[in-house]
Formats: sequence, C-alpha cells, structure tokens
Amino acid sequence: MVDVIETEALRRTALEHLWMHNQDWVRMAEEGGPPIVVEGSGIRVTDSEGNSFIDCNGGYASVNLGYGRTEIADAVREQMHRLVYFPQGSTTEPVIRLLEKLAEVTPGSLERSWPVTGGSEANETAVKIARAYHKRRGEAGRYKIISRKGSYHGATGAVMWMGAASHADYGPSFPGMVYAPQPNHLSREFGRETASECAVRCAEAVEKLIEYHGADTVAAVIAEPIASHGTEGPKAAPGEEYWPMLRQICDRHGVLLIADEVVCGFGRTGKWFGVEHFGVVPDLMTVAKGLISSYLPMAAAIATREVADAFAGEENIFRQSLTFGGHPVTATAALRNIEIIESEGLVENSAETGAYMLEQLTSLREDHPIVGDTAGLGLMIGVGLVKDRETGERFGKEVKLADRLTESFRREGLFLRAGDGGVNFSPPLCITRAEVDEIVAGVDRSLGAVERQLSIR
Ligand code: PLP
Repeated sequence: MVDVIETEALRRTALEHLWMHNQDWVRMAEEGGPPIVVEGSGIRVTDSEGNSFIDCNGGYASVNLGYGRTEIADAVREQMHRLVYFPQGSTTEPVIRLLEKLAEVTPGSLERSWPVTGGSEANETAVKIARAYHKRRGEAGRYKIISRKGSYHGATGAVMWMGAASHADYGPSFPGMVYAPQPNHLSREFGRETASECAVRCAEAVEKLIEYHGADTVAAVIAEPIASHGTEGPKAAPGEEYWPMLRQICDRHGVLLIADEVVCGFGRTGKWFGVEHFGVVPDLMTVAKGLISSYLPMAAAIATREVADAFAGEENIFRQSLTFGGHPVTATAALRNIEIIESEGLVENSAETGAYMLEQLTSLREDHPIVGDTAGLGLMIGVGLVKDRETGERFGKEVKLADRLTESFRREGLFLRAGDGGVNFSPPLCITRAEVDEIVAGVDRSLGAVERQLSIR
C-alpha cells in the first residue's frame, strides 16, 4: 500500500503534469487532487490510501473481465519474452489466431479484420474503408456518413464529428457529416411514442436523408446497435423494427451499414454482439473495449467478405498503415480475453445478472421520487433522474445533481459517475448477484442522502 505522504506528493505531481480526460485541473485541485488507484481485483479497485471501491462503470464500460486477471498478464509476459514486434511485410501467430477467432465469434461473413489500437481509430478505419469501397466500385461521389444525433463514435479527426453536430473548439466540421434522429423513445424528444413507433419513424428518417442528399453521395450509416451514448438518461434499445429497416434501407440505396460495437460488443448487452438482438449483419463492425477488457489498447474494424473483396488485387489495396495495428502482444491479450469470456460464460452472465440488476435498480423507484425510467440490456443499464416523473422534467444545472450524487456514491464506496439526467451502469461482466445487491444498496442510500439534501423527502 502507498502511504499517505506519498499519496499527497503523487497528487500534487498529477495536478502539475496530468491532462486528464474531460477534467478541469483547477477543480481537481480544489477537491484535493485526483483519486489514485493502485490495485484491482474482480469488480473492485483499491486506492492509494487503502480504501476499496466497486467500479460500477468498469473503467469506460471497458474492463469487461474485471480487474486482476493474471492469466492475461502471464500470456502477455510470455509473448513479450518470445517476440514483441515483427519485420515489415510479416505478421505473427497471435495476430493470425486472434483474427481467426474474431471471424468465428462475429455474425455472418464478417471475416476480415484491420487491427488498430482504439475505438476511435477503428471507426476512422471503417469510414475510410466505406469511402474507398465505393471508389473501388466506381461511385467516387459517395462520401457522406449518416450518424445519429447525440451518438459518440470517438475523439479523433473525422469520427469526432459523427453524432455530434457541434464541437465549438475544433471547427470547421469534417465534410459530409449528416445527422439522423436517435431511436430512443424514452427521451420523449417527439412526445410519447412506443418503442416501435419511434423505431419506424427514426429508420424512415434515415431513408429520407439518403433520398434528400441523393444516394449517390452517401457512403455509410454508422450506429451503435443499442446506444450507450446519446440523449441523457436511460437508453432504451431501439424497437425491433429499427435495425432490420436500417439494413433494408442501406441495401436499397447501396449504402454500407457500420455497427459500432465498441461498447456493445463481447457480451456487454447479453449477447456476443449488439446486432444479434436484431438478427442483422452489418457490412462493417468496429470493436474495441470488450475485445481486450482494457488490459492493453486494441481494437479492430471488421469487414464482411463482400466488402473486403473490393480491395483484392494490387490496384485495389486499402492504403493505411499504423505502427501498432496488429501488435502481437496486444493480440495475445485479446485472444486470452475472448477465451476467458467463453470459458466462464460471461456473455450469459451479462444477460442473467444484467436482468437481475435492472430489476433491482427499477425497484428503487418505489422509494425514490427522483428515479425516472430505467432501461437496459445485459450489463448496460441506465437509470433516469427526474424532478417530475409524470412530465419527465429534469433538474436544472443549478441543483448540481450529478455532482451531489457522484460524491454520495463515492462515500458509499462506489466509483459511479452520475449525469444530471441519469446514471449509467456498466460493471465488469463477471459481477455476481451479491455484488449487484451491494451496489444497489449503496445507490439506495446515496439517493436517499441527496433527496434529503434537496428536501425532497
Ligand atoms: N464508439 C463508442 C460507442 C464509444 O463509446 C467509444 C468510446 O467511449 C468510442 C467509439 C471510441 O473509443 P476509444 O475511446 O477507444 O477511442
């Protein structure tokens, strides 16, 4: 254990040098510096002062196996001793075995993978493949990408503009970005609709956009099978009509369909891949987080045989090289990760324990007036927070609900970030029912404490 004095020194150093994801270092300093975690096992981490916490978001919905899997560390060590990289124009056994495994676990003819190091890079690659595919087929005018408003597909060049219509700091926008509505009936964006009504309306909106822009200008539609981002609050799975309609619309207009499985993939939603809930095979699929459970950085863009075939032949090569794409050490870790998901039945556990967790979190509505709609599939669960359950009205920013709750969760031993409109849960897929009970009890007490602060009860 790191002692308290060292912790203070480390925190000061972090405040000097660390540029952390979406954080203000001034505020972090006011709060005494960032928490520093030193160990992890299963769903728990320990901080530098010896306090134990449950990581209810499993990193960024990414530590799917849970912390402390020494099997992966052992496999990585062995591979590092044997071979860390490869000469240009060659490849390695771990990469070949991993890509064979990906072809096996993904649906349909998704068989050829371009390995990269993160979800953003995977989506950048998918977009490039989509645009180049149309060029190879003599349709160079197809460059537009349709994404859904409020979605997130990454932080880099082109993908930063997918889903998000404005990034004031980084404009001008990447050319060819087109935005469709988000099929989340719980957001009530278009009034009270059933999941089906919302699904049909949102899928039809995609077709109208393709027709409006001209199909000969549209390269691809990109979407998460079940939105993990988007409008704040619980993200309902789209009505069952949505994905089959999207598939048909794309086929009708020669547009490629990209499923961003960065969060949904590898069991998060209770099936291996989110698209399997809807029986649809996309033309391109991107995977990251759960592919390697955050043990090392790895991701991939996976193409169907039909799409990949457009790049066969010397004239048609997909021109892209990334130094760390297809790294044998990360491939070793990813392969071991998938083997553990299979051998421990973690996809099934995600479905079963996830359903239990959703039920338990939903039962908090009885005692807590600020709990609104709840929704989830597998271990991707959202709990809405509302001022008025009937109208769905949210608390104003001035109430600082998110800060109050996040603080209160931390006091209960939970690393769990609240937003003003809801709280999302994405714990490691190895979670047990007893651990779910522990989380729900902590959330129950935290909600009670914040409701008392706000004189709601
Ligand atoms: N796509 C989705 C749905 C994501 O949630 C994320 C990250 O959170 C990304 C893409 C980008 O992945 P990365 O952060 O690995 O670049």
